[in-house]
Amino acid sequence: MATKRDYYEILGVPRDATPEQIKDAYRKLALQYHPDRNKSPDAEEKFKEISEAYAVLSDPQKRSQYDMLGRAGFNQQYTQEDIFRGADFETIFRDFGFGDLFEMFFGGGRGYGGFGNRRMRGSDLVSEVRITLEEALKGTEKEIEIPRSETCKQCSGSGAAPGSSPRTCASCGGTGQVQRVHSSGFARFVQITSCPTCKGSGSIIEKPCSACKGSGVAKVRRRITVRIPPGAEDGMQLRLRGEGDASLNGGAPGDLYVNVTVIPDPRFRREGPDLYYDLKIGFPQAALGAEVTVPTLEGPVQMVINPGTQPGTILRLKGKGLPKLDGFGRGDQFVVVNVTVPDRLTPRQRELLKELAKEFEQPLKEKRRFGF
Ligand SMILES: [Zn+2]
Ligand SMILES: [Zn+2]
Repeated sequence: MATKRDYYEILGVPRDATPEQIKDAYRKLALQYHPDRNKSPDAEEKFKEISEAYAVLSDPQKRSQYDMLGRAGFNQQYTQEDIFRGADFETIFRDFGFGDLFEMFFGGGRGYGGFGNRRMRGSDLVSEVRITLEEALKGTEKEIEIPRSETCKQCSGSGAAPGSSPRTCASCGGTGQVQRVHSSGFARFVQITSCPTCKGSGSIIEKPCSACKGSGVAKVRRRITVRIPPGAEDGMQLRLRGEGDASLNGGAPGDLYVNVTVIPDPRFRREGPDLYYDLKIGFPQAALGAEVTVPTLEGPVQMVINPGTQPGTILRLKGKGLPKLDGFGRGDQFVVVNVTVPDRLTPRQRELLKELAKEFEQPLKEKRRFGF
């Protein structure tokens, strides 16, 4: 299978493109490739490709996920349907008179949101986990506890006590809606409202389930295991499909979003997959060379400092950083060499340094502030 192209490349915009640039680029390409206009055999495929890129890059949340995960990682987290869900094509296509994109790609109605008796998706939930840098290295599993509503076990969501079942509402015949006719002078108005007898559900529960009091859902505290991928970054958001609240009327459950916090490690500074470590060495070590011990996420390693190493020199421990989120290899650990100057000296150290200064022909201040 051919590797999938980068969304920015598909739209021909830079990675830091503004929302307007993305919209403009998509508008131009859509006009060129929309199958209503372009009858070449690969136009539809091309049109879907640019529309997918637009759906992702025009949604700030999806775009930041994509920037972090890359195409392969992103496509693992989002199905095609999820990618297009919620994307705003209407404002672009209104002017062109094109049909509904979602229907074009997936057929049928949208099957979510909506009014009346349409099934509503359950609510999305947000939670968070905290991990250490070591855990980010290997990836980890964390158990979190979230309060959420689930389909009631006792009545399987019907809301009726065991042995009974909801009956169709007689007032509305199960539609959940009633018509009211108002007369005003010679005019008659027909108003359609939610049925007051069944509150729009279309059915009546005579013996409510004791566990959920007829609602069909129960609030529970649920323990969920969250898998954190290797290389997870601070601020990353993971999406657990279907782990949100249950739907109140038989629709799909919502999703659970988990925000990842990586606890800062005082030893390292992180930049994406790379780590920076500040190494302090003395002037003699910098001048003569030394062998030093440097911490890494996988334990201490020995490093050789060459004679004549200057302050600010950056050494590289290749592959000792964090895994890259796109799955291709690991970052590096950079070791930044700092040469420290002692602020307290023994009399002997002072004598040796003075002698050294003389040898280097580096004049010193004659009078010492704290003389003896
Ligand atoms: Zn009713
Ligand atoms: Zn129940």
